[in-house]
Amino acid sequence: MKVFNILLYIFGITLPIILLISSFIKPTIRKIIKNIFIAGTIFACFYILKLGGDHLMNKDIIDSKEPEEITTNEIKTSEEKVSTTTMDEHKIINKDGLYYIDGYLIVNKTYPLPDDYVPTNTYKDATGQDYCPTCLDIDTYESYKLMEADAEALGLNLWIQSGYRSYNLQTRLYNDYVSRDGKTLADTYSARPGHSEHQTGLAFDLNTITDSFAYTDEGKWVDMNAYKYGFILRYPKSKEEITGYKYEPWHLRYVGKELAEKLYNNGDWITLEEYFNLTSTYSD
Ligand SMILES: [Zn+2]
Repeated sequence: MKVFNILLYIFGITLPIILLISSFIKPTIRKIIKNIFIAGTIFACFYILKLGGDHLMNKDIIDSKEPEEITTNEIKTSEEKVSTTTMDEHKIINKDGLYYIDGYLIVNKTYPLPDDYVPTNTYKDATGQDYCPTCLDIDTYESYKLMEADAEALGLNLWIQSGYRSYNLQTRLYNDYVSRDGKTLADTYSARPGHSEHQTGLAFDLNTITDSFAYTDEGKWVDMNAYKYGFILRYPKSKEEITGYKYEPWHLRYVGKELAEKLYNNGDWITLEEYFNLTSTYSD
C-alpha cells in the first residue's frame, strides 16, 4: 500500500498545486504540465485499480484458506482424540457391522458378527461353505501350518478339528445343544449364532474337543508355544466369568505375535476381555 500512498500524494496533492502555480506562467508550459497531470492521473487510476484487484484476490485466497486451516485442525484434533482414546480406553469401532478394537476383530457374547458375514482373504474360499477347516484367514492358516510343522518336528501331531463355521451351521449346532441341554447350559459351551469366533475364519479347534486335550503332550505344548505363532488360548482356565465360556484348551484365536505374547503373559493367560476391558454377556 506504500505505492498507493505515494501516488495519492503526487496526483492528489503535489500535481494540483503545480497545476495551480502553472496557471500563472507560460501557456505552453502550462499545457505540458496539464498533459503530464492527465497522463499521470490515468496511470494512477489504473494502478489503483490493479492494487485494488490484487488486494481483493489476496483476500479471496485468505478467505479460502481459512476453512482449510479449520478443517485440518479438526482432523488433527479428531486424530489425536482417536489415538488418545485408543491408547487409554481402547475405543471400539463398528465397521460394516463388525466390531474392532485397536484393529482386532472382537467376537464374543456382547459383540456379534453380522448374520451374513463370510470372511474373505481365506486360504480356501469360505463362500457357500458351512463347515470348512481350511477356510481360514490366510495369515491364520499359514501361522497354523508353521506351528504344525514345528510341533511335528518334536513328534507332536496337531490337526484342525474345526475351522470356519457358517452362521447357518452355528444356528443348527446351537439349537441342537439347547434342545439337548437347555439354553443356560448350552450358553456355557456353545456360542449363539453370530457370536462364534469360528465364523471369523480367525479361530479353530485343535485335535480333540475334550478337556483331556490339555493333558496330552500336544495340549501342553500348544498352551506354552501357540503365542509364538500369534495364537491365543481364547478361553483359558478360571476365566469363565470373564469370557462367558468354560475352559477350552483346544480353541485358538489368531491375533498376531505382538498381542499374543502380551496375552500369554508368561503362562498366566490374559483374556481379550481383560486386556481391552470388554464385557462378554448376552443382552437377553
Ligand atoms: Zn472353538
